[in-house]
Amino acid sequence: MTAPSIPNAPSDAARSAFLAAVRAALPDLKLLDDANDRESYRNDETSYLKAGLPLAVALPTSTAEVATLVRLCGDQGIPIVPRGAGTGLSGGAAGIEGGLTIALTKMDQILEIDRENLVVVTQPGILNAELKKRVAAEGLFYAPDPASYEICSIGGNLGTNAGGLCCVKYGQTRDSVLGLEVVLADGRVIRTGGKNVKDTAGYALTHLFVGSQGTLGIITEATLRLRVAPPPRTTMLAFFPSLDGAGDAVARIVAAGTNPVTLELLDKPSIAAVDDAFQLGLDRDAEAMLLVESDRAEPAASVELDEAIRACEAAGATSTMRAADATEADWLRQARRLALRALERLGQVRMEDVGVPRSRVPDLLRAISAIGEKYEIRIATFGHAGDGNLHPNFIFDHDDPRAEELTDLARADLYRAAIALGGTVTAEHGIGISRRDALVEQVGPDVVGVMRSIKAALDPQGILNPGRVF
Ligand SMILES: Cc1cc2nc3c(=O)[nH]c(=O)nc-3n(C[C@H](O)[C@H](O)[C@H](O)COP(=O)(O)OP(=O)(O)OC[C@H]3O[C@@H](n4cnc5c(N)ncnc54)[C@H](O)[C@@H]3O)c2cc1C
Repeated sequence: MTAPSIPNAPSDAARSAFLAAVRAALPDLKLLDDANDRESYRNDETSYLKAGLPLAVALPTSTAEVATLVRLCGDQGIPIVPRGAGTGLSGGAAGIEGGLTIALTKMDQILEIDRENLVVVTQPGILNAELKKRVAAEGLFYAPDPASYEICSIGGNLGTNAGGLCCVKYGQTRDSVLGLEVVLADGRVIRTGGKNVKDTAGYALTHLFVGSQGTLGIITEATLRLRVAPPPRTTMLAFFPSLDGAGDAVARIVAAGTNPVTLELLDKPSIAAVDDAFQLGLDRDAEAMLLVESDRAEPAASVELDEAIRACEAAGATSTMRAADATEADWLRQARRLALRALERLGQVRMEDVGVPRSRVPDLLRAISAIGEKYEIRIATFGHAGDGNLHPNFIFDHDDPRAEELTDLARADLYRAAIALGGTVTAEHGIGISRRDALVEQVGPDVVGVMRSIKAALDPQGILNPGRVF
């Protein structure tokens, strides 16, 4: 693996001088420099990856404070880790030894809900669920819906271009972003886009910053697209005697032009873990289950689910059932959201995030099974099958000494398989620190070269989240 270029950790004297400069410039800033506090910002949700201890954690409350912090870091060559709620699954917000972590969690205000234009203007620190709740109170809907929506921030969603359970109909986070305010690496504050639905003035900078994992700028405000709230969802489950059958059903649903809002897959180990955790009475003999939802008004919702049922039956589903009402539907969806937590009851879990064109989902499922057999690893797979995005989870006993080595081997095979199927090594979690080599394998050196040029133009000193993505 190419060594990332991370500036050396500052000496004790340089660290003290830096903290003194921050306190002098921003006397009201909340700055955590106690070792215990800093330790809690070392990792994101990938605690199995090696991460550094930040020299301090700053919790700014305004764009001006962020800009000042960035300038001070630039003056002294201190690396910066922008951080939201720390739920990321690629190590993007993990600490850098001797770096300053800037956590945006206190910048959590909604600045405007503009009903006429169907947009919300918000600071980045607000949790996705809170933003959804606030706009729902106005009869509006913010679509991006990561399974972690109750614990992750909008800033982190923008940083990762988060996906989730609604992408199959409404796209990834990027598809709901109209404009941004961004603090650049030299402390300048720029605004991109705005409330315009159409805008082709120059390069698409808004889209460039979304998904850049804090390596190009720090997002301090976002203008996001809203929709009028759809009706409550109609939900069905289908159970299959084989993974192939479920994969085939996904391909048939997509090919039929059915447009469900959710199309999720759980394999047998995931069904068992979720059923154990939430006592749902799922068919535990099934090899796979699909959760399909429509958010159309009746009778269109029933027509849509009837089409999905036909596709599932044609693919060999042994049983299908509809949720009795919206409460049961919410319950099933919530259980799917908590699939990772259910698996974590079984041991240490290392989650992957590959994606393929949707017609290749059956091939990807076969490749995952083969990898499990080859390395004798327990793998539980669930994911956003309607997007071609699956999360194989490698599960090890907590004290398994082979966990790291086997993960590396299995991941290498998995990435190769996804790329060979015309897919991607990460569909929504990002390259972060965990998939840097795989990025080169997927996109090739010329594309990585272009990405590096963009990074160099926007952050010539390399202080913004160094060692992530490249
Ligand atoms: C149980 C569980 C389920 C999950 N389900 C999903 C899912 O369905 N779909 C999905 O996509 N992800 C999922 N995730 C992963 C994670 O929740 C998302 O990646 C989320 O977007 C991270 O948000 P965060 O606020 O925690 O960001 P963090 O982890 O703090 O940061 C993520 C990245 O964004 C950057 N960043 C944060 N804030 C800013 C900012 N203001 N400006 C610039 N860069 C910034 C960070 O540097 C980092 O690189 C799940 C995680 C868990 C634990």
